[in-house]
Amino acid sequence: MRSFEVTILGSGAALPTANRNPTAQFVKCKNRYILIDCGEGTQVQLRKFKCKLQQIDHILISHLHGDHFFGLVGLLSTMNLLGRSQSVNIYGPEALHKIISNQLEVGGARLEFEINFHPLLGNETKLLFEDKCIEIHTFPLKHRIETNGFLIKEKKMPPSLLGEVFKEDKVPLAAIPFFKRFENFTDDNGKIHEFENYIAASIAPKSYAYCSDTSFLPSIAESCKGATVMYHEATFTEIHKDKAKKTNHSTAIDAAKIGVLCNVKTLFLGHFSARYNDTIIHLEEAKTVFKNVFAVEDGDVIQI
Ligand SMILES: [Zn+2]
Repeated sequence: MRSFEVTILGSGAALPTANRNPTAQFVKCKNRYILIDCGEGTQVQLRKFKCKLQQIDHILISHLHGDHFFGLVGLLSTMNLLGRSQSVNIYGPEALHKIISNQLEVGGARLEFEINFHPLLGNETKLLFEDKCIEIHTFPLKHRIETNGFLIKEKKMPPSLLGEVFKEDKVPLAAIPFFKRFENFTDDNGKIHEFENYIAASIAPKSYAYCSDTSFLPSIAESCKGATVMYHEATFTEIHKDKAKKTNHSTAIDAAKIGVLCNVKTLFLGHFSARYNDTIIHLEEAKTVFKNVFAVEDGDVIQI
Protein backbone atom coordinates (compact mmCIF):
# COMPACT_ATOMS: atom_id res chain seq x y z
CA MET A 1 0.00 0.00 0.00
CA ARG A 2 1.32 3.39 -0.96
CA SER A 3 0.37 6.38 1.05
CA PHE A 4 1.73 9.78 0.30
CA GLU A 5 -0.67 12.68 0.48
CA VAL A 6 -0.79 16.35 1.40
CA THR A 7 -3.78 18.06 3.03
CA ILE A 8 -3.93 21.80 2.42
CA LEU A 9 -4.81 23.42 5.75
CA GLY A 10 -4.32 27.00 4.59
CA SER A 11 -3.95 28.38 1.08
CA GLY A 12 -4.02 32.14 1.67
CA ALA A 13 -1.30 34.77 2.07
CA ALA A 14 -0.75 37.15 4.98
CA LEU A 15 -4.38 38.27 5.30
CA PRO A 16 -6.75 35.40 6.12
CA THR A 17 -10.12 35.48 4.34
CA ALA A 18 -13.41 33.67 5.00
CA ASN A 19 -12.28 30.85 2.68
CA ARG A 20 -8.52 30.83 3.04
CA ASN A 21 -6.52 30.32 6.20
CA PRO A 22 -2.85 31.31 6.34
CA THR A 23 -0.31 28.71 5.24
CA ALA A 24 -0.10 25.19 6.66
CA GLN A 25 0.03 21.71 5.14
CA PHE A 26 -0.27 18.26 6.70
CA VAL A 27 1.83 15.61 4.94
CA LYS A 28 1.40 11.89 5.36
CA CYS A 29 4.27 9.90 3.85
CA LYS A 30 4.66 6.16 4.54
CA ASN A 31 2.95 6.57 7.91
CA ARG A 32 5.17 9.47 8.89
CA TYR A 33 3.25 12.67 9.69
CA ILE A 34 4.73 16.06 8.96
CA LEU A 35 3.33 19.56 9.39
CA ILE A 36 4.72 22.21 7.05
CA ASP A 37 4.26 25.76 8.32
CA CYS A 38 1.70 26.61 10.95
CA GLY A 39 -0.23 29.82 10.32
CA GLU A 40 -2.78 31.09 12.82
CA GLY A 41 -5.70 28.70 13.25
CA THR A 42 -3.83 25.62 11.99
CA GLN A 43 -5.01 23.45 14.88
CA VAL A 44 -8.63 24.25 14.03
CA GLN A 45 -7.98 23.32 10.39
CA LEU A 46 -6.35 20.04 11.47
CA ARG A 47 -9.55 19.21 13.34
CA LYS A 48 -11.80 20.35 10.53
CA PHE A 49 -10.02 18.24 7.91
CA LYS A 50 -9.64 15.22 10.22
CA CYS A 51 -5.85 15.19 10.47
CA LYS A 52 -4.71 13.66 13.75
CA LEU A 53 -2.56 16.30 15.40
CA GLN A 54 -0.94 13.97 17.94
CA GLN A 55 0.51 11.93 15.06
CA ILE A 56 2.71 14.82 13.96
CA ASP A 57 6.39 13.98 14.54
CA HIS A 58 8.04 16.70 12.46
CA ILE A 59 7.12 20.38 12.17
CA LEU A 60 8.89 22.34 9.42
CA ILE A 61 8.68 26.14 9.61
CA SER A 62 9.82 27.91 6.43
CA HIS A 63 10.31 31.41 7.85
CA LEU A 64 9.23 33.77 10.59
CA HIS A 65 6.60 35.87 8.86
CA GLY A 66 3.53 35.53 11.07
CA ASP A 67 1.29 33.88 8.49
CA HIS A 68 3.65 30.87 8.54
CA PHE A 69 4.06 30.29 12.30
CA PHE A 70 1.57 32.23 14.48
CA GLY A 71 -0.38 29.02 15.10
CA LEU A 72 2.55 27.03 16.45
CA VAL A 73 2.43 27.73 20.19
CA GLY A 74 -1.34 27.18 20.21
CA LEU A 75 -0.86 23.82 18.55
CA LEU A 76 1.92 22.74 20.95
CA SER A 77 -0.23 23.84 23.85
CA THR A 78 -3.15 21.72 22.63
CA MET A 79 -0.88 18.70 22.14
CA ASN A 80 0.11 19.16 25.78
CA LEU A 81 -3.48 19.51 27.04
CA LEU A 82 -4.33 16.28 25.23
CA GLY A 83 -1.61 14.48 27.20
CA ARG A 84 1.18 14.19 24.69
CA SER A 85 4.33 12.58 26.05
CA GLN A 86 6.10 11.83 22.79
CA SER A 87 8.71 14.37 21.69
CA VAL A 88 8.30 16.49 18.58
CA ASN A 89 10.95 17.66 16.10
CA ILE A 90 10.75 21.29 15.06
CA TYR A 91 12.90 22.62 12.20
CA GLY A 92 12.95 26.38 11.71
CA PRO A 93 14.91 29.63 12.09
CA GLU A 94 16.87 29.76 15.35
CA ALA A 95 14.82 32.64 16.84
CA LEU A 96 11.73 30.43 16.79
CA HIS A 97 13.03 28.34 19.69
CA LYS A 98 13.16 31.42 21.91
CA ILE A 99 9.75 32.63 20.74
CA ILE A 100 8.18 29.31 21.76
CA SER A 101 9.78 29.29 25.22
CA ASN A 102 8.97 32.96 25.84
CA GLN A 103 5.33 32.54 24.87
CA LEU A 104 4.95 29.55 27.13
CA GLU A 105 6.92 31.01 30.05
CA VAL A 106 4.97 34.26 30.41
CA GLY A 107 1.85 32.27 31.19
CA GLY A 108 3.67 29.83 33.44
CA ALA A 109 2.95 26.95 31.04
CA ARG A 110 5.19 23.91 30.73
CA LEU A 111 5.11 21.23 28.09
CA GLU A 112 5.18 17.64 29.32
CA PHE A 113 6.94 16.53 26.14
CA GLU A 114 10.35 17.34 24.66
CA ILE A 115 10.89 19.66 21.74
CA ASN A 116 13.90 18.65 19.66
CA PHE A 117 14.70 21.92 17.96
CA HIS A 118 16.77 21.89 14.76
CA PRO A 119 17.84 25.41 13.70
CA LEU A 120 17.74 26.29 9.99
CA LEU A 121 19.84 29.05 8.48
CA GLY A 122 17.87 29.66 5.31
CA ASN A 123 20.98 29.37 3.12
CA GLU A 124 21.72 25.66 3.18
CA THR A 125 20.81 22.63 1.14
CA LYS A 126 20.88 19.65 3.45
CA LEU A 127 19.28 16.48 4.69
CA LEU A 128 17.27 17.17 7.86
CA PHE A 129 15.92 13.73 8.62
CA GLU A 130 15.93 10.19 7.30
CA ASP A 131 14.78 6.79 8.40
CA LYS A 132 14.27 3.57 6.45
CA CYS A 133 11.24 4.93 4.56
CA ILE A 134 11.57 8.69 4.01
CA GLU A 135 13.95 11.66 3.74
CA ILE A 136 13.32 15.34 4.51
CA HIS A 137 15.60 17.91 2.88
CA THR A 138 15.79 21.70 3.06
CA PHE A 139 16.91 24.18 0.41
CA PRO A 140 17.20 27.98 0.40
CA LEU A 141 14.56 30.36 -0.96
CA LYS A 142 14.84 34.10 -1.61
CA HIS A 143 12.52 36.24 0.48
CA ARG A 144 12.77 39.36 2.66
CA ILE A 145 14.06 37.24 5.55
CA GLU A 146 15.81 33.84 5.66
CA THR A 147 13.40 31.32 4.19
CA ASN A 148 13.62 27.56 3.73
CA GLY A 149 12.02 25.27 1.18
CA PHE A 150 11.46 21.59 1.92
CA LEU A 151 11.60 18.37 -0.08
CA ILE A 152 10.03 15.18 1.26
CA LYS A 153 11.05 11.98 -0.51
CA GLU A 154 10.15 8.34 -0.29
CA LYS A 155 13.10 5.96 -0.21
CA LYS A 156 13.40 3.25 -2.80
CA MET A 157 12.05 0.10 -1.23
CA PRO A 158 13.55 -3.37 -1.82
CA PRO A 159 11.60 -5.57 -4.25
CA SER A 160 8.70 -7.40 -2.62
CA LEU A 161 7.65 -11.02 -3.01
CA LEU A 162 4.23 -11.85 -4.51
CA GLY A 163 3.31 -14.18 -1.63
CA GLU A 164 0.03 -15.54 -3.04
CA VAL A 165 1.47 -16.72 -6.38
CA PHE A 166 4.57 -18.01 -4.63
CA LYS A 167 2.45 -20.23 -2.35
CA GLU A 168 0.12 -21.31 -5.12
CA ASP A 169 3.01 -22.54 -7.27
CA LYS A 170 4.58 -24.31 -4.26
CA VAL A 171 7.99 -22.72 -4.86
CA PRO A 172 10.55 -23.84 -2.22
CA LEU A 173 11.33 -21.20 0.42
CA ALA A 174 15.01 -21.46 -0.52
CA ALA A 175 14.14 -19.52 -3.68
CA ILE A 176 13.38 -16.27 -1.84
CA PRO A 177 16.97 -14.94 -1.48
CA PHE A 178 17.55 -15.71 -5.19
CA PHE A 179 14.41 -13.88 -6.29
CA LYS A 180 15.33 -10.85 -4.16
CA ARG A 181 18.63 -10.68 -6.06
CA PHE A 182 16.63 -10.91 -9.34
CA GLU A 183 18.01 -14.41 -10.04
CA ASN A 184 16.15 -17.53 -11.16
CA PHE A 185 16.11 -20.54 -8.84
CA THR A 186 16.62 -24.20 -9.80
CA ASP A 187 15.01 -26.67 -7.37
CA ASP A 188 16.18 -30.22 -6.47
CA ASN A 189 14.24 -31.68 -9.41
CA GLY A 190 16.01 -29.37 -11.82
CA LYS A 191 12.94 -27.17 -12.38
CA ILE A 192 13.75 -23.53 -13.04
CA HIS A 193 11.58 -20.93 -11.26
CA GLU A 194 11.83 -17.51 -12.91
CA PHE A 195 12.10 -14.57 -10.51
CA GLU A 196 9.98 -12.31 -12.74
CA ASN A 197 6.86 -14.32 -11.88
CA TYR A 198 7.25 -13.81 -8.14
CA ILE A 199 8.71 -10.34 -7.62
CA ALA A 200 6.65 -7.13 -7.75
CA ALA A 201 8.19 -4.43 -9.88
CA SER A 202 9.84 -1.89 -7.62
CA ILE A 203 7.80 1.31 -7.77
CA ALA A 204 9.74 4.52 -8.39
CA PRO A 205 9.91 6.59 -5.19
CA LYS A 206 7.88 9.81 -5.20
CA SER A 207 8.69 13.23 -3.83
CA TYR A 208 6.98 16.46 -2.78
CA ALA A 209 8.67 19.86 -3.04
CA TYR A 210 7.36 22.77 -0.98
CA CYS A 211 8.41 26.24 -2.14
CA SER A 212 7.24 28.74 0.44
CA ASP A 213 7.48 32.53 0.04
CA THR A 214 10.11 33.40 -2.56
CA SER A 215 11.03 35.57 -5.51
CA PHE A 216 11.60 33.80 -8.82
CA LEU A 217 14.57 31.57 -8.00
CA PRO A 218 15.92 29.23 -10.72
CA SER A 219 18.38 27.59 -8.27
CA ILE A 220 15.41 25.72 -6.78
CA ALA A 221 16.00 23.29 -9.66
CA GLU A 222 19.30 22.20 -8.06
CA SER A 223 17.33 20.62 -5.22
CA CYS A 224 13.96 19.80 -6.72
CA LYS A 225 14.68 18.52 -10.23
CA GLY A 226 12.31 15.68 -11.08
CA ALA A 227 10.05 16.10 -8.04
CA THR A 228 6.76 14.29 -8.54
CA VAL A 229 4.65 17.13 -7.17
CA MET A 230 5.63 20.71 -6.42
CA TYR A 231 3.77 23.34 -4.42
CA HIS A 232 4.94 26.86 -5.23
CA GLU A 233 3.62 30.13 -3.90
CA ALA A 234 1.90 32.34 -6.47
CA THR A 235 0.83 35.32 -4.41
CA PHE A 236 0.22 37.59 -7.42
CA THR A 237 -0.87 37.68 -11.08
CA GLU A 238 1.00 39.56 -13.83
CA ILE A 239 -0.92 42.80 -13.29
CA HIS A 240 0.72 43.02 -9.84
CA LYS A 241 4.17 41.80 -10.84
CA ASP A 242 5.86 44.98 -9.55
CA LYS A 243 4.30 44.30 -6.19
CA ALA A 244 5.64 40.71 -6.37
CA LYS A 245 9.17 42.02 -7.03
CA LYS A 246 8.95 44.56 -4.22
CA THR A 247 7.75 42.06 -1.61
CA ASN A 248 9.93 39.14 -2.76
CA HIS A 249 7.01 37.03 -3.83
CA SER A 250 6.20 35.16 -7.05
CA THR A 251 3.58 35.53 -9.73
CA ALA A 252 1.76 32.51 -11.14
CA ILE A 253 4.03 32.70 -14.20
CA ASP A 254 7.17 32.74 -12.01
CA ALA A 255 5.90 29.59 -10.27
CA ALA A 256 5.11 27.90 -13.60
CA LYS A 257 8.63 28.65 -14.88
CA ILE A 258 10.07 26.91 -11.80
CA GLY A 259 7.78 23.94 -12.50
CA VAL A 260 9.29 23.73 -16.01
CA LEU A 261 12.88 24.13 -14.79
CA CYS A 262 12.37 21.37 -12.23
CA ASN A 263 10.54 19.16 -14.71
CA VAL A 264 7.91 18.26 -12.11
CA LYS A 265 4.91 16.13 -13.04
CA THR A 266 2.30 18.31 -11.35
CA LEU A 267 2.41 21.84 -9.99
CA PHE A 268 0.11 23.31 -7.33
CA LEU A 269 -0.17 27.04 -6.70
CA GLY A 270 -1.12 28.66 -3.39
CA HIS A 271 -0.50 31.56 -0.96
CA PHE A 272 -2.94 33.75 -2.90
CA SER A 273 -3.21 37.41 -1.95
CA ALA A 274 -6.56 38.33 -0.35
CA ARG A 275 -7.08 40.92 -3.15
CA TYR A 276 -8.19 38.14 -5.56
CA ASN A 277 -11.69 36.64 -5.36
CA ASP A 278 -10.72 33.55 -7.33
CA THR A 279 -7.73 31.91 -9.04
CA ILE A 280 -8.93 31.98 -12.67
CA ILE A 281 -6.30 34.49 -13.83
CA HIS A 282 -3.51 32.75 -11.86
CA LEU A 283 -4.30 29.50 -13.67
CA GLU A 284 -4.77 31.09 -17.10
CA GLU A 285 -1.39 32.78 -16.85
CA ALA A 286 0.44 29.78 -15.40
CA LYS A 287 -0.93 27.49 -18.13
CA THR A 288 0.77 29.56 -20.82
CA VAL A 289 4.04 28.19 -19.38
CA PHE A 290 3.19 24.84 -17.71
CA LYS A 291 0.09 22.83 -18.54
CA ASN A 292 -0.35 20.52 -15.57
CA VAL A 293 -1.05 23.17 -12.95
CA PHE A 294 -3.76 23.51 -10.28
CA ALA A 295 -4.71 26.05 -7.60
CA VAL A 296 -5.13 24.75 -4.05
CA GLU A 297 -8.08 25.42 -1.77
CA ASP A 298 -8.28 24.84 1.99
CA GLY A 299 -9.20 21.20 2.59
CA ASP A 300 -7.81 19.88 -0.71
CA VAL A 301 -6.02 16.53 -0.45
CA ILE A 302 -3.25 16.02 -2.99
CA GLN A 303 -2.30 12.42 -3.78
CA ILE A 304 1.38 12.33 -4.61
ZN1 LIG B 1 6.67 35.67 3.98
